[in-house]
Amino acid sequence: MGESKWLRNVRVENAYLAREGFTYGSKTKTVDIEIKNGKISDIMDHQKSNLDGNNDIDGNNYLILPTLREMHCHLDKSKLGVPWEPITPANNIVERFTSEIKELDNLSLSLKDRAKNLIETEISNGVTFFRSHIDVHPAVGQCYLEGVLETLEDYQGKLDYELVAFPQHGLLRSNAYDDVKKALESGVQLIGGVDPSSLDGDLERSLSQTFELAVQFNVPIDIHVHDRNEHGTETVKKLIEYTKQSNWQGKVAISHAFGLNDFVGEEREMVFSELAEQGISVISSVPINGRIPPLEELRVAGVNINLGCDNVYDSWSPFGTGDILGKLNRYAEIHRLTTQEALTNSLALITGKPLNIEKEKTWIEKDMDASFILVDSSSTAEFVARQNPVKFSFYKGTVVHSL
Ligand SMILES: [Zn+2]
Repeated sequence: MGESKWLRNVRVENAYLAREGFTYGSKTKTVDIEIKNGKISDIMDHQKSNLDGNNDIDGNNYLILPTLREMHCHLDKSKLGVPWEPITPANNIVERFTSEIKELDNLSLSLKDRAKNLIETEISNGVTFFRSHIDVHPAVGQCYLEGVLETLEDYQGKLDYELVAFPQHGLLRSNAYDDVKKALESGVQLIGGVDPSSLDGDLERSLSQTFELAVQFNVPIDIHVHDRNEHGTETVKKLIEYTKQSNWQGKVAISHAFGLNDFVGEEREMVFSELAEQGISVISSVPINGRIPPLEELRVAGVNINLGCDNVYDSWSPFGTGDILGKLNRYAEIHRLTTQEALTNSLALITGKPLNIEKEKTWIEKDMDASFILVDSSSTAEFVARQNPVKFSFYKGTVVHSL
């Protein structure tokens, strides 16, 4: 079933180039890739004579890299497409999320149009996988969720996504349990949360309800934790405890996780290795205002780190471009990842897939989804450091963006 086509003349990295202990670049080989039924069905060394085939795409000798992932966004909150307006004043997150609803309701563009603008922006930057939190709580009910799902229908065959039922106004604080449950019943893929300690005021009860729903619907958890100091550290410790209790290893993520800064000494080491052991990942939008968890320290401890754009011109922040590569570039600069290897390895933060550049080995394999990007870069390191534009983006064999 299905016709096959060949993507010819693309470069894939297969080794580093080193001299006297200094890595001065990456070695690539040029290959032709057969795509069938949305998968990579064959990989061959590039043969010039094959370039004129009927069903061929010329890869222009671009570098091929895994498709990019947006692991933390809010498709229901962006104001993209609306003429510029600054954010309104707010003294704390309660004031912010209270005024947010009215602000979004009054915009000249519908949720669908705004969500579409964000999706298109990210697709043009190489993303074909989205994890988006969607507000579900008594103030908005399932309304945003329905709008986002309708929008996503237009993108079938162009991207993958998972939605998080997100009680922005506090699971307990806003009595959002029923709304969250309803969203999960309708098939939403994850359960979210926000500051169970400071916002809900009852860490134990908030987390026990979250895990109860997660287990009942067999969904992973991704919870926003901005809390610092005791609120933050207690939340992390409880999350580890509940993860163990519920056997939810590999299915829990903490977004933002600023409180990880506040562990010291032996406890810090212990907690970080527990996070790694329990497969609890940390997701960051790499803010540069100092509110960033010790991401490289966590990564070295074996914690899975993912990046997301989070705010892209919304009621919370005037900043954000919807360019996930820009976030990785910022990450690399903050953490001084300047060597060829460190820059190359960092790409996994936005692909979820290590490149494993070894002698004569490559990351592409037969039977993989044909979802990847083509970039005009000599190597991954250059792509990350120089932020070269994405020339082509493929989703399961279909070109969803080209420059
Ligand atoms: Zn968020």
